Amino acid sequence: MSFSALGLADELVRAVTELGYTIPTPIQEQGIPAVLAGGDLMAGAQTGTGKTAGFVLPILQRLMSVPIPEGRGKIRVLVLVPTRELAAQVEESVRSYGKYTKVTSLVVFGGVSINPQIHAMRKRVDILVATPGRLLDHVGQKTVDLSGVETLVLDEADRMLDMGFIRDIRKVLALLPKKRQNLLFSATFSDEIKELADGILSNPALIEVARRNATAELISQKVYNVDRDQKRQLLAHLIKEHSWHQVLVFTRTKHGANRLAEQLDKEGITSMAIHGNKSQGARTRALSEFKSGTLQVLVATDIAARGIDISELPHVVNYELPNVPEDYVHRIGRTGRAGSEGEAISLVCVDELRLLADIERKIKREIPAETVPGFDWDPKAKPEPILNGRNGPRPGGSGRQGQGGGGRQGQGAGRTGQGDRKQGQGHGAAKPQGQNHGGRPAGKPAGAKPAAARPVSSMQSGNKAEPNGNVVAPPREVNGNVAPPRQQRGSRTAVPALLGGHRSGGRHQ
Ligand code: AMP
Repeated sequence: MSFSALGLADELVRAVTELGYTIPTPIQEQGIPAVLAGGDLMAGAQTGTGKTAGFVLPILQRLMSVPIPEGRGKIRVLVLVPTRELAAQVEESVRSYGKYTKVTSLVVFGGVSINPQIHAMRKRVDILVATPGRLLDHVGQKTVDLSGVETLVLDEADRMLDMGFIRDIRKVLALLPKKRQNLLFSATFSDEIKELADGILSNPALIEVARRNATAELISQKVYNVDRDQKRQLLAHLIKEHSWHQVLVFTRTKHGANRLAEQLDKEGITSMAIHGNKSQGARTRALSEFKSGTLQVLVATDIAARGIDISELPHVVNYELPNVPEDYVHRIGRTGRAGSEGEAISLVCVDELRLLADIERKIKREIPAETVPGFDWDPKAKPEPILNGRNGPRPGGSGRQGQGGGGRQGQGAGRTGQGDRKQGQGHGAAKPQGQNHGGRPAGKPAGAKPAAARPVSSMQSGNKAEPNGNVVAPPREVNGNVAPPRQQRGSRTAVPALLGGHRSGGRHQ
């Protein structure tokens, strides 16, 4: 299947060809015809599946098919997204996919002066990409007219609800023409999302592509057990030892991100932190330096990392495990994207074993654990409560923590720079070679059976397509036998390991 076979105009095919896209991803293959047909769409797809082109390309085509009016015109497409980074990236995609068309676009988000946006809004804007809060600021100042919106896109709708945007979304909905096309993208389908979808979508086409937490075939996941106070040294050791040149590191708190970036920097590993307290300028600079390869390490909190699109990112490190298993899935989804292989490493101390068990339960597989020579840990050390920044201590349990969990967050600014989105540098990374002594202490939490991937949404079942076109089968037996139980922890040899699927035969090419 090619892009032109999907019925896309030559101008669009040319643009994506120049970006190196030759074959539509599954979300594109299914989503483009559905959007072109003009109906509503509910798509289960997360970042990394190619979903942006899945809605931007057919939207551009529909806009092109009606002659663009002279003069200012009205906004015809509104794309709502949860974070400033995602807003900037989506609009950048609109511009690069639409570079041979006359369609115009603008991005607006908070955290920066509204005046340049007001100025830009006076010119013709066909596609507006916005975070909900800043859009409502424009509504309040009467600097935006939404009465001509023909298509509404809610991108990462689950994130928008997580971040407390539901009221803002409802306010925006009330300002749109009743008759319009609605496209909703979400990585998860909670009752809240279903309720939102029920209220907005009319007879939608349903599409779901494999979630990375269900498959993650291309991501090699590994746990390094380590003592709490040895984490930084271990991270620096791994980066130096294996010459990692582009590592995205996650911390639990903004303060922790700052401190770690500073310490790594002092050790000669170029690092910057990216989180909600940083100015938009600092965030944009850090991201572009990281993408271009001048910055070795980007230390991020979960919310800040949302929407970061760096293709073929070779390494993601969980310096601290997240409290919410879904965040682990989102974090590791930053690597092994768009069909390339990646490595997700978690540095886990005794305090985090419960979090690890929650994660393994969520992804339905155990993550191989080892220790690195010289960094032996004491599995019998007394666990300490996990501190979560402004939420205070929370004993190794679950629950969302204090990073913009409610209300407006992550909204930034103005038109963004142009550029090729495919700037990742995901090659030639050495694999660490830790040894397999240690592992988890006796009494390892239960819950991580050797089950293979299964779809999380109830929308569809059966085989699932990967972004690279691979199809992933649901759990099955191997040669008629049930997949063998996994090896005992502590007795196995290093599995450099593409995890999952192998034992249960769940991976198909
Ligand atoms: P998205 O899920 O929209 O954030 O896209 C994830 C990444 O995949 C981005 O870096 C896109 O540039 C890239 N991408 C999207 N569609 C394709 C395609 N058909 N072929 C190759 N790469 C793609």
